[in-house]
Amino acid sequence: MIMQIVRRVSHFPSVRRGAERIAGARGRGLVLVYHEIAQVPREDPATPTISVAEFEQQVGWLSHVGDIVPLPNVLDGGRDSRPRFAITFDDDYESHAKYALPVLERHGVPATFFLSGRWLHGLGRYWWEKLDTAIALSGLESVAQTLGVDAATPTQLAARLEVSQDLQGMLDQVPLPDLPPLSDRWFQMLLGADMGIGFHTVDHPRLTAVGDHELDEALQSGRADLAEAAGRHLSLFAYPHGRAGAREADAVDRAGFEAAFTTSKDPVGAGTDRYLVGRWEPDTASLEDFAAETAWRLNAPIRPGRN
Ligand SMILES: [Zn+2]
Repeated sequence: MIMQIVRRVSHFPSVRRGAERIAGARGRGLVLVYHEIAQVPREDPATPTISVAEFEQQVGWLSHVGDIVPLPNVLDGGRDSRPRFAITFDDDYESHAKYALPVLERHGVPATFFLSGRWLHGLGRYWWEKLDTAIALSGLESVAQTLGVDAATPTQLAARLEVSQDLQGMLDQVPLPDLPPLSDRWFQMLLGADMGIGFHTVDHPRLTAVGDHELDEALQSGRADLAEAAGRHLSLFAYPHGRAGAREADAVDRAGFEAAFTTSKDPVGAGTDRYLVGRWEPDTASLEDFAAETAWRLNAPIRPGRN
């Protein structure tokens, strides 16, 4: 069914042009990042959510026009290799195992999951999951008012909370049902699958805003626990909120990781800094738009690394 859709869309002139541009991007790579996957995504969520069907179409399309490879391989392709794609997921979501894993296994493609390991420490949900629940329960206006913030959309409100731990703490004043704790079962399934696992910090701080000591600590705290649960060394890192500069990249390098990933949307090619590798999060566009944007992103200039 999915491959039928991919084949049908492949005949659209705009999509054919996109596929030709992708085929011409030899030696290039593009890393995609996803967060939560849902059968039916919430309307206007504060954080990115994609439907299972859209995700499966995107995986089908990428397999059709290039090679979906394990994440480390996207950095090490030859100059003349076919365009390479790597799929990544961030944060501790049960939907990784519940919805993403079956799609990946059906298509026989690899992905890397950047986890916090919060369930290992008995920690509750991330603040943005509480925010989404509060908005679904009380409405955006009421939540924004309780927090004393002006925001026209859930995304705007989430952006305000991202830079203020005080506002994140104030979410406890908003009436919320108890969110069920993360179920160990789904994470055991994820860790037992033949997929890559990377580290994403337990507390998910904005690393660009913390001091040097806190930065080094965030890169180690909980890392060994997740490595033990995963039964392997964790050599890949994804910056919380996707943000990093030279200082953060140096710290991750020092902490013994082999590569680290932002959300700068840049493609991978000769000259890419292994500690500032961009990733692009596709939104819930049509497959036609996704195909066109993939071609465009893959051919974008390579960002110069640290000197
Ligand atoms: Zn994250």
